[in-house]
Amino acid sequence: MTIRCMCGKEVELEVYGGQYQNEYRGDCECGRKWVLNEISGLMTEISGEEDNIGGEIQRAK
Ligand SMILES: [Zn+2]
Repeated sequence: MTIRCMCGKEVELEVYGGQYQNEYRGDCECGRKWVLNEISGLMTEISGEEDNIGGEIQRAK
């Protein structure tokens, strides 16, 4: 799954193993870290402040 970071680069997300299912995480080249919850559809930046919600998800083809 791929999302687009606020910096404009595409970020490849990988399934994040652990207690949460349907969750993807990826790091952008600009240093932002992203987590995507597939159930809620929320894409969240986790580079420090957990409550910083990103924009709409842009799925790759
Ligand atoms: Zn970025």
